[in-house]
Amino acid sequence: EQQHVIMDETAIRRALTRIAHEILEKNKGIEDCVLVGIRTRGVFLAKRIAERIHEIEGTPIPWGEIDVTTYRDDRKVDGELLQRKEGAMLSPELNIHDKKVILFDDVLYTGRTIRAAMDALMDCGRPRAIQLAVLADRGHRELPIRPDYIGKNVPTSRQEEIVVALSEIDGKDEVTIIHE
Ligand code: 5GP
Ligand code: MG
Repeated sequence: EQQHVIMDETAIRRALTRIAHEILEKNKGIEDCVLVGIRTRGVFLAKRIAERIHEIEGTPIPWGEIDVTTYRDDRKVDGELLQRKEGAMLSPELNIHDKKVILFDDVLYTGRTIRAAMDALMDCGRPRAIQLAVLADRGHRELPIRPDYIGKNVPTSRQEEIVVALSEIDGKDEVTIIHE
């Protein structure tokens, strides 16, 4: 097993700063924008981007989190597929109706988690638009989903795995790739 660092703390910081600016540029500011992080690590990314946007624009931007574990179409419990509509959880105070929702996740792979998150969002209101930001895109999409904001493109084989460490829960900021 081999492991090497593909983003260190500085690279992650710069990527997130760039993404904050890209979000502002694409949306011509933050009016009607809401950030939603997918648990677990997407939440910290959304929070960090919200802080940077606040610093840059001088205006706070609403942000929250979503848990889509039960919305995944390929998650099995005791060998049975879960029904789609069972309780996705969006931060209760967050209003997404008619908003531009920017979804955050750490790693984008097949796209199934994002599909589930979009489904869950649609059940919580009617967003005007949904955009996607990811720290790492490792390829292998199985659905027609592409990110609007990408920290780093990381071509991988299916045997490889990306490990994302964020200081809030992992004690450091680092993205590594593991080759089996
Ligand atoms: P997908 O649903 O696109 O197949 O997978 C994306 C979800 O699974 C994300 O929520 C992400 O956290 C997790 N994931 C998929 N592949 C990897 C990976 O190589 N490394 C990490 N850290 N997470 C992954
Ligand atoms: Mg995840």
